Amino acid sequence: MTHHHDKPFKCPYCEYEMELSTAVEDDSVVPHPGAISICINCGEAGFYAEDLSVRKITPDEYALFDDETKSLLARIKLLCLSNIRIS
Ligand SMILES: [Zn+2]
Repeated sequence: MTHHHDKPFKCPYCEYEMELSTAVEDDSVVPHPGAISICINCGEAGFYAEDLSVRKITPDEYALFDDETKSLLARIKLLCLSNIRIS
């Protein structure tokens, strides 16, 4: 399910502006503070803030992710980067 944000938000890594988000695995999930957001432009992962802007994940926070989450984030980033090269 695609979620329409009240206001556009920018990727904290590449500044790409977005106004829509889609859940990766569970369509019932909507953006909320603390949830992971992945930029469709550069594939980097960030955390939603209270105002649903996105901030970078610190190295210490990333280190706390389990291996399954790190693997999923890496695969999604590769997909995003592949799409950039194709288009
Ligand atoms: Zn980005």
